Amino acid sequence: MPPIPLVDLAAAHAEVAEEVESGFKRVIGDTAFIGGAEVAAFEQEYARFTGVGHCVGVANGTDALELALRAVGVGPGSEVILPANTFIATAEAVARAGARVVLVDCDPDSYLIDVPAALAAVTPATRAIVPVHLYGQLAPVEELRAGLAGRDVAIVEDAAQCQGATRNGRGAGAGGIAATSFYPGKNLGAYGDAGAVVADDAGLATAVRTLGSHGGLTKYVHEVIGVNSRLDGLQAVVLRAKLARLAGWNALRRAAAQRYHELLAPLEVGRPTTLPGNEHVWHIYCVRIPSDGTPARRDRVLAALHAAGVGAAIHYPVPVHLTPAFADLTPAAGAFPQAERLAPEILSLPIYPQLTADQQEAVASALSAALAG
Ligand SMILES: *Cc1c(COP(=O)(O)O)cnc(C)c1O
Repeated sequence: MPPIPLVDLAAAHAEVAEEVESGFKRVIGDTAFIGGAEVAAFEQEYARFTGVGHCVGVANGTDALELALRAVGVGPGSEVILPANTFIATAEAVARAGARVVLVDCDPDSYLIDVPAALAAVTPATRAIVPVHLYGQLAPVEELRAGLAGRDVAIVEDAAQCQGATRNGRGAGAGGIAATSFYPGKNLGAYGDAGAVVADDAGLATAVRTLGSHGGLTKYVHEVIGVNSRLDGLQAVVLRAKLARLAGWNALRRAAAQRYHELLAPLEVGRPTTLPGNEHVWHIYCVRIPSDGTPARRDRVLAALHAAGVGAAIHYPVPVHLTPAFADLTPAAGAFPQAERLAPEILSLPIYPQLTADQQEAVASALSAALAG
């Protein structure tokens, strides 16, 4: 069997190639390279898709998080709470907004933010909590919201991994604000960097758009010090073509995940639980290789999978507080036992809509052999 990649962007492109080509011609014909009709149409379509009132396209997911945080009032002197087991960008966005990163541990079963720990970390300086919808399922935002009742703390959802996911029938950002990434490998991926903020409140959406357009919506009128973070017309073409297929693609991911559950049931591997009420979109299929607390066994399994042509990966190998970039955070090793226990044991298997049953069987037998080896 030919190698099985972690994600197959060529297979996704094949499905949209014609639309992308004609769309690119349209954008080039109109020279609408930044903003323009394609971007406006995508923003409307994505807002409708997520069931949130407004969508603002930006340059990438990290910017989307930063601008959403700034729009809700996060700045110097603020504290922002986020889980230790996330992609570094979640923490970078907080730091770039000028605020202090306050990490909390994750739930040992779902690997999502530990809600009681997050609520316990709130201080008078806390301006926001960033739940990360890790691997494609939504964190229990309603529990955070209930716990924050009466306090002036915003919830800014990191929805980079969950395009199309719902919790109790609602998408990320419903009734609040969420930031997402259209990095090529995400469930909805552009052909370069792209991202968006969705918000139900029109004022918040306008604040994000203003911050991302050099601090003003009228040329040469700058109300605040903003940044340059906008969505390109060519990327909007790709995103519109893929968005039209996303619900179907997510259904195929769910079917693939179900097949993995069955194929891997006899193996000695764990995996995160899916919370009741969640419609998961399986951005990542994570398995957990029981170990002695060091990454040695997981790394051996990973190397064996690579040798067998299986493009497995790790999301993420080092919790935020143990990265050199955030070494000045107060918590030291041992501060977040769940996140630290997970990091040396987790492994992500290939998953994408076009993954075949035969490929999944090959992945399962490679994993079985690797675990025995
Ligand atoms: C991808 C990702 C981001 C950042 O998105 P970019 O578009 O790469 O800037 C942020 N948070 C999480 C959880 C992600 O997976």
